[in-house]
Amino acid sequence: DSKRRLRNGYQAFSPRLAKRQQERLQIETQLRRALDNGEFHLVYQPQVDLRSGRILHAEALMRWRSPLLGEVRPGRFIELAESTGEIVRIGHWVLGEACAQMRRWQEQGLPIQRIAVNVSYRQFIGEDLVDSVRRMLGEAGLPGHALELELTERVLVEDVADTSRVFDQLRQLGVRLSIDDFGEGYSALNYLRRLPIHALKLSHSFMKGVPGARSDEAICQTVTGIARSLGLDMVAEGIETEAQRDFLLRLGVKVGQGFLFAPGLLPGEFAKRLAAQSS
Ligand code: C2E
Ligand code: MG
Ligand code: MG
Ligand code: MG
Repeated sequence: DSKRRLRNGYQAFSPRLAKRQQERLQIETQLRRALDNGEFHLVYQPQVDLRSGRILHAEALMRWRSPLLGEVRPGRFIELAESTGEIVRIGHWVLGEACAQMRRWQEQGLPIQRIAVNVSYRQFIGEDLVDSVRRMLGEAGLPGHALELELTERVLVEDVADTSRVFDQLRQLGVRLSIDDFGEGYSALNYLRRLPIHALKLSHSFMKGVPGARSDEAICQTVTGIARSLGLDMVAEGIETEAQRDFLLRLGVKVGQGFLFAPGLLPGEFAKRLAAQSS
């Protein structure tokens, strides 16, 4: 077809692009059987009280161990899975796995309030997401408020009418909704007053220049101000240094995550840390 001809045309001109294209194709092929082969697992990054360092919540993050490609990071496969539509099936699995893990921690008596799961805009198209969430909560025996869905701003620009219906249904389930990577994308602020959002996650991309770079500091300050004046919770991500944490504390941010506290952890390691702080 014409697309393939175009691809071949590019290959003739740019070996680099051709190599990337080939890699993409390879990932795409492997991705198609990864789920059924059990090649995915989740790690859990603590969301902590910035002042005490105590773990409050967990964010589930996908990991893919491919026998052919090795460790493949989400940055290299999520977008691809979105473009092929595979993300819907994968996302369903992630939800179920995260809810089941949350249930196990609760059964172990570990003090964790909530688990956050990343949801692709593609999962918002159609009725499946609400059904999927309802079913997974039911199977794990969890109340809605034990689950938070992290959405990107992309969700909000795709189909507004449909989106607010899905948001309403999710709210009825008691599920919390947050906007991930806030400020990085479209930032059409008007949706914030129309949709039942609970929290904004300040994009880690602004954390790099903090403290010091005036523009990054200003954006952090502005986003914090927006969250505060709209009565939304705020979570900072990508906190790597004490100076960054202290800057955020001065802005009044109370919850955050980042390598300063912990990377994504295997369930056992996460549980160990929870157990250590409950004594
Ligand atoms: P995200 O949801 O914004 O997740 C935060 C990313 O930042 C994670 O990368 C995490 O490992 C990384 N990170 C955490 N602390 C720090 C830090 O202090 N410094 C730096 N530089 N990075 C930090 P990861 O796990 O590679 O995931 C990348 C993105 O892939 C996620 O960004 C999310 O958008 C997407 N993703 C991951 N898992 C899923 C999933 O199950 N479903 C969907 N739809 N997307 C997912
Ligand atoms: Mg996230
Ligand atoms: Mg993020
Ligand atoms: Mg991100």
